Amino acid sequence: MSQDTATRYPLVLVPGWFGFVRLLLYPYWYGIIPALRRGGAVVFAVQVSPLNANEVRGEQLLQQIEAIVRETGVAKVNLIGHSQGALTARYAAAKRPDLVASVTSVAGPNQGSELADYLLERYPHGSVRGRVLGAVLQGLAGLMGVLETGHRRRGWPVDVRASHHALTTHGVALFNHGYPQGLPPTWGGHGPESVEGVRYYSWSGTLQPGKTDRGGNRFDVSNRSCQWFARTFVREVGQCDGMVGRYSSHLGTVIGDDYPLDHLDIVNQSLGLVGKGADPVRLFVEHALRLKAAGV
Ligand code: CA
Repeated sequence: MSQDTATRYPLVLVPGWFGFVRLLLYPYWYGIIPALRRGGAVVFAVQVSPLNANEVRGEQLLQQIEAIVRETGVAKVNLIGHSQGALTARYAAAKRPDLVASVTSVAGPNQGSELADYLLERYPHGSVRGRVLGAVLQGLAGLMGVLETGHRRRGWPVDVRASHHALTTHGVALFNHGYPQGLPPTWGGHGPESVEGVRYYSWSGTLQPGKTDRGGNRFDVSNRSCQWFARTFVREVGQCDGMVGRYSSHLGTVIGDDYPLDHLDIVNQSLGLVGKGADPVRLFVEHALRLKAAGV
């Protein structure tokens, strides 16, 4: 297979809930951007509000897409969103399909996250527990804003409650009603390959005992967290990556939905610690080759 990842349109990487570009020296897309650029791809890692509604984040993304198009002279971009970044990308593509060649969802909660449902039930917004959790998240988002060095804009608006509703099954169902592009017509199926000239793709992983808990993950606190979060799943019990269910992640052409990768392994976190034999970076490089072959 050729390693030429120089896609026709730039790759724009959109981070998820609590996303960032770089905290001090530490990148969100750990090792992914250099691998894509080595093959010739033009890559932009963008930032949006770390905690906010899909529509708010989507508008912020649109502004950055318009700036990229204006400054580089390209006609459109390929969007790759991790987790909530997938919903952010879907919003932008629904609003401006003329500026988006493709949307790729990487472990995106396209039908909601059962972890978000659990937290809403156990930590309701009006309760003491809910207010404490909200204050902690607000503080963390503020701290991350101080540490962010990867993006010139500071002070993104934070709305903890809106960000929570943006990820529940109910909240995403409302979002999907307004922005259904790329969704599968049936639970667990594939979505359309292309809508309004925008190509749609997705991939995701699942926790697999003996695989995702071995190798580097043995030393990785984020894998432990995903294992704990996975216990909150009911509908997709045993079929989730710790934060998003296997079938909830489906969008457009489903490239794969059971890679042995937890929700953070899939963007090569933390520090490239993933289960033995797993290679999340390769999935991004292969996808750039796929986009290039598709002419976008
Ligand atoms: Ca990991």
